[in-house]
Amino acid sequence: MPRRLLPYATRASTLRWRAAYYCNLVVKIGVPSETLQGEHRVALVPDGAAKLAGLRFEVRVQSDAGAAAGFTDKAYEDAGAVVEADRRSVLGAADVLLAVQPPTIADVAVLKPGAVTISFLQPATHAAVVEALAARRVTAFSLELLPRISRAQSMDALSSQASLAGYKAVLMAAHRLGKFFPMLMTAAGTIPPARVLVLGAGVAGLQAIATARRLGAVIEAYDVRPAVKEEVRSLGATFLELELETQEGQGGYAREQSAEFLARQRELLTGRVGAADVVITTAAVPGRRAPILVTAPMVRGMRRGSVIVDLASEMGGNCELTRPGRVIEVDGVWVDGTTNVPSTVALHASQLYSRNVTNLLEHLTKDATIRVDFEDEITSGACVTHGGEIVNERARQMMEAPQEVAAT
Ligand code: NAD
Repeated sequence: MPRRLLPYATRASTLRWRAAYYCNLVVKIGVPSETLQGEHRVALVPDGAAKLAGLRFEVRVQSDAGAAAGFTDKAYEDAGAVVEADRRSVLGAADVLLAVQPPTIADVAVLKPGAVTISFLQPATHAAVVEALAARRVTAFSLELLPRISRAQSMDALSSQASLAGYKAVLMAAHRLGKFFPMLMTAAGTIPPARVLVLGAGVAGLQAIATARRLGAVIEAYDVRPAVKEEVRSLGATFLELELETQEGQGGYAREQSAEFLARQRELLTGRVGAADVVITTAAVPGRRAPILVTAPMVRGMRRGSVIVDLASEMGGNCELTRPGRVIEVDGVWVDGTTNVPSTVALHASQLYSRNVTNLLEHLTKDATIRVDFEDEITSGACVTHGGEIVNERARQMMEAPQEVAAT
């Protein structure tokens, strides 16, 4: 039986949808090229296309959509997908649109009412897009809002991409640092190992620790959640014990910290930042501007040639001097505010993202149809618009307080 698109009838608005789609055709999956400058990822790789084709979805990919990530049109065709040159026909035919970045308002205007989109929707900075999706009666899923529960781990694109960012941040720092990472004993003398400080030991921070450790650095790490202490130690780093209260929030995240807390934290961290060759910052609080952990005087207190890689730059940055999207030099210290770091590892980032979205799509597919079941925690957590409305309270809050999360 072919795949059909069928919303779960938990609200009146879905009944019309059911009528429109119940006897419908094969579900068409659309994969457009990403248009944001510097975005090299693609939402579905050829392996993912083959999997969906095997599940009897019809996959249409815009020509060259995978090129920047290393996937040719031929690879998609071999996987059973149809490659189309015209973006509008990919968008206009899609029952389910898979993308990395949020659609543009112009893209939304081409989507079919009742279509489903899966992407990083970034409601805090894309409120107008969310409103356009609702007005177009599109059912939009936002991967940032997927609940961080064990059942959703295989769909957790935030984690898969953060892990790549943590790895790449270390390589970016090593590339710029005029020092070796490992200790080296040579006939010309002994070189001590680089000292790396990781601030924020969530998914990205832990991967940064593991990568820096493999390169032979000596690592210190700090997080406001003491739950990560053992993980930090098991990776071979020292957990910094600061005389501060813990700041554990809901769902394994940090809670927002007071100005007094952050001032005291900066005071206690000043000496450790000054001793580091490399500081990698990843500290974030969901829906909030990233906390400032490294001030301008702290940067000026570092040795010349030291490097800060600020993975929180898209959320305003953990370093006061970070310029999102730029690498700057301040008194001999490099402050790297590169944004969209996962896109610099586009092949593997796309592979993992593709698995995340196909797993979510499979999760939404029951009895050969796509159902939007608001009784399900994963669906209700990640669905932002449905039936002409914004149905997600967290997304609404992010849209109402964009100044909290907008990059400075
Ligand atoms: P994140 O990107 O929101 O934050 C990164 C880290 O910054 C967090 O560890 C946070 O505690 C830390 N932080 C915030 N303020 C700080 C400060 N002032 N100083 C130092 N550190 C600070 O978080 P994330 O990495 O996406 O995930 C955090 C946690 O969520 C994970 O470690 C895990 O416990 C949980 N999680 C669970 C699942 C799952 O069960 N499916 C999946 C992913 C993550």
